[in-house]
Amino acid sequence: MDGHARAGAAGAAGGAVWSPSDELLRRFDLAGPRYTSYPTADRFNEAFGAEQYRQALAQRAHVGGAGGQLPLSVYVHIPFCESVCYYCACNKVITRHHERATAYLDILERELDLQLGALGRRQAASQVHLGGGTPTFLSDAELDRLMQMLRRGFEFAPGAECSIEIDPRTVTAQRLAHLKALGFNRLSFGVQDFDPDVQKAVHRIQPQEQVEALMREARALDFESINVDLIHGLPRQTPASLARTVAQVAALRPDRIALYAYAHLPQRFKPQRRIVAAELPGAADRVHMLSQAIAGFLAHGYVYIGMDHFALPDDALAVAKRQGRLHRNFQGYSTQPDCDLIGLGVSSISKVGATYAQNAKTLPEYIDSVTRGELPVVRGFALSREDLLRRTVIMGLMCQGRLDFEAVELAHLIDFRQHFAPELERLAELEAKGLVKLGPDGVELTDIGWYFVRAVAMVFDLPLQTDRARERYSRVI
Ligand code: SF4
Repeated sequence: MDGHARAGAAGAAGGAVWSPSDELLRRFDLAGPRYTSYPTADRFNEAFGAEQYRQALAQRAHVGGAGGQLPLSVYVHIPFCESVCYYCACNKVITRHHERATAYLDILERELDLQLGALGRRQAASQVHLGGGTPTFLSDAELDRLMQMLRRGFEFAPGAECSIEIDPRTVTAQRLAHLKALGFNRLSFGVQDFDPDVQKAVHRIQPQEQVEALMREARALDFESINVDLIHGLPRQTPASLARTVAQVAALRPDRIALYAYAHLPQRFKPQRRIVAAELPGAADRVHMLSQAIAGFLAHGYVYIGMDHFALPDDALAVAKRQGRLHRNFQGYSTQPDCDLIGLGVSSISKVGATYAQNAKTLPEYIDSVTRGELPVVRGFALSREDLLRRTVIMGLMCQGRLDFEAVELAHLIDFRQHFAPELERLAELEAKGLVKLGPDGVELTDIGWYFVRAVAMVFDLPLQTDRARERYSRVI
């Protein structure tokens, strides 16, 4: 083990739990993609449009008719928020006019009809996720309507995961009960930071007591899984303040925690221009906050899943990691097998067969296409055999933390060592740095390598090797 790592608390299996030191984090803090897809969304292009996506749906319908398809994952994007958080990089529309939601659901219903026209109705769905924006911007009646729409379109598989992102400022105990009655079994709370000063600096005030009360209520209602999203690197955050938030969140025992890095890109994301740059933590503090937060969650008994995710040892995600059954989709890590994804709503991304398709990013453009009776896809990607091979390799590293050369060779009819000779040379460099172990039959991440998994995955990202635009991405960890 690399001497720059430090041992933390005892792990679930009784072994030492390793977390990276400031020095290691600094050394591998390169800009890189998060690999929720491969190729990454910035590679999508306009040569792939509505007609290509319609064909992909029809192709799935054809194979599905023979009973040969895995269930679907369905994502619905609700873009509205009542007020803007200054760190926001999401696709959203800030409005207090709740009547806009009704008009949006009308269009969403028409888009669903268009997609189902090619795909066929009543295909099985094992995962349904409402994201945004703020899905809880919708009233109870609007959520009822949306779920009825989805249940008419898809056959929800027994035990399907139904999840929704919760803005604690827009939800009451009664609303949580309503969500439970509608069939939601997973909640994701947007917390970001409990420190009042940080909350003021990012224009998102939600007292800790409010979140705590809602989480208690969610537990009483017996939601299967509760996730909390946090961000490090926010203005006015200090190592001491983030350590307090980490301890407060860990004490609430959410099943899963996502800890994202704030990327300050005010040129790209307008709300970020309202962040006072001088209040952002410096590089040394950012690194220290991250290493401290990782060590903190491990000490509180959480398991590091990969990238930005932690889970309690008996959570399905932690179990899947131990069993090598993790998967990855646009929401991050998942326990669901690699299924096709139907994205609905403005800016949503679908993944069907060997294609990705993205809807129009602005509301007027999205509404205009659907009103004309056209699928609102504006760009996408059709994967070549080489892309599919690299996707297998990258997702294998991201999810299983290992690659078996022979399995890849058999699935893709290549000679791994010959095909990936330059990549293996780069892996040897990472082996020297303690991130991977290379053997005659495969490659495996070390304990510390898991913290830098995307730096390892980037070795196999073909466009990235010649790309000079790495600064578009957030930091590796
Ligand atoms: S962070 Fe979430 S709630 Fe805040 S403005 Fe962005 S999408 Fe809306």
